[in-house]
Amino acid sequence: MTTHIHDAVIVGAGFGGMGAAIQLKRLGYDDLVILEREDDLGGTWHVNRYPGLAVDIPSSTYSYSFEPNPHWTRLFAPGPELKAYAVHVADKYDLRRHMRFDTVVEGARWDEETSTWRVSLEGGESVVGRFLLTATGFLSQPKLPDIPGVEDFAGTVMHTTRWDDGIDLQGKRIGIIGTGATAVQLIPELAKVADHLTVYQRTPIYVSPKMDGPVPGVVRGAFAKVPLTQKATRLVGTSILELLMVAGVLHFRDLPAANQIGKRVCEAHLRRQVKDPELRAKLTPDYDFGCKRPTFSNTYFPTFTKPHVDLETTTIDHVDAAGIVTADGNRADLDVLVLATGFNLWDTNFPAIEVIGREGRDLGKWWRETRFQAYEGIAVPKFPNFFSLNSPYSYSGLSYFTTIETQMAHMERLLKAMAKRGADVVEVTEEANDAFLERMTGLLGNSVFSAGSCSTARSYYFNQHGEAVLLRPTSTLSAHREAVRFPLDDYEYRTA
Ligand code: NAP
Repeated sequence: MTTHIHDAVIVGAGFGGMGAAIQLKRLGYDDLVILEREDDLGGTWHVNRYPGLAVDIPSSTYSYSFEPNPHWTRLFAPGPELKAYAVHVADKYDLRRHMRFDTVVEGARWDEETSTWRVSLEGGESVVGRFLLTATGFLSQPKLPDIPGVEDFAGTVMHTTRWDDGIDLQGKRIGIIGTGATAVQLIPELAKVADHLTVYQRTPIYVSPKMDGPVPGVVRGAFAKVPLTQKATRLVGTSILELLMVAGVLHFRDLPAANQIGKRVCEAHLRRQVKDPELRAKLTPDYDFGCKRPTFSNTYFPTFTKPHVDLETTTIDHVDAAGIVTADGNRADLDVLVLATGFNLWDTNFPAIEVIGREGRDLGKWWRETRFQAYEGIAVPKFPNFFSLNSPYSYSGLSYFTTIETQMAHMERLLKAMAKRGADVVEVTEEANDAFLERMTGLLGNSVFSAGSCSTARSYYFNQHGEAVLLRPTSTLSAHREAVRFPLDDYEYRTA
């Protein structure tokens, strides 16, 4: 029996995987299979359904530039609108027929003899493709806290990625562990319904004002009729984010004043919203702005001033059947325990599946034994015909769509070069990869991650070696310029 060989196997049906599929189809590769472990498309925006979920990047920026959506109802659209947008994109670009849901990928192995990737699925089946693209997301492996006794809790326990709408929270005693961007959105919503809410904070987060509001019908009409108006809005949003990132975070050493502006804006926001100095001190971060992803909210800080909401900053000792006990012996009896404890990036992600390249190189092992690295955040030596979309140094700018579109541009340049050369196998050279890694390492030295005070931030930007290699330390403009101009000789081209 001959095995069918797809043009490409894409792992993940979120915005990354869909963007890659759109690009491949534009370039004439139509025999695609998109494997998705969840029961529908949309990635993060399918999985996350907790109350208060919304995008925290302005919506006209947090979308594909080639597929603007004039229908966002708010400046920062609520989660269900992002999911609906994902469905719209899948339908418009005819992606659904390529997708297989409830399909868990275990690993992928390069077969040198046939120059193909064999992708193994849970259950024993294999799928084969000329190209492999992993679009498994950065924040896709939920992290459960290593706190003793969580499994003994007799009430309801929910991680934010496994939200159960069937659980009635009205009048309940709720505890929430975590104060990251997810918790910042969720806490005000829980406070609206809880009889009592206890928030367990280990590390405070910088929160700036959120310039949110409904998008009036007349503006949406203008966006639909004159797309240029929405493009202009996108440009403004993107430029502000870019300025924040480049000046405030990446050029920390040269421009410490720019970083201070971000810090001061958040501190003033806290001062305006919380009058009690003791509470304010607890909510004030002691690390530099940008070490950990800051977020936006107008309702987070005021929630802690409500009489039925407690902010607990003493370390949790353990959880038992009735609730949480802190190190000072205090206990809070709870009906519901919410784990807003984020995601594991550096142990179980990067890569999210086992990927074995040429000469048996195991990507996860190699990254851990050497350093986390990927040329232009997308290609790895000894991994032919492989686009790793969630790689070290791949995240460019603050909107994930900038990253996706930069990678789409890189793919276009490379695949066209292959076609021109009549090659069917391509692999980045060790030299090009080493030079890129060295350059990124040098640039990182200028950023808040290296030059700032981040040791108390406990930021997921840092890996187990203490390196902040998630974000690409360049402007998005420079990332995009390189994606369309990288030296073609940085790759080796072969015919199978
Ligand atoms: P996170 O930023 O990693 O926050 C996890 C929180 O849980 C932290 O406060 C952490 O405390 C706490 N925690 C973890 N383990 C703990 C333990 N054992 N004991 C006590 N506390 C513990 O995760 P997240 O809030 O889910 O956000 C992740 C990312 O998702 C964000 O940075 C953002 O990029 C993205 N996000 C985006 C949006 C959006 O609208 N676009 C919304 C939500 C999230 P420590 O800080 O002390 O570790």
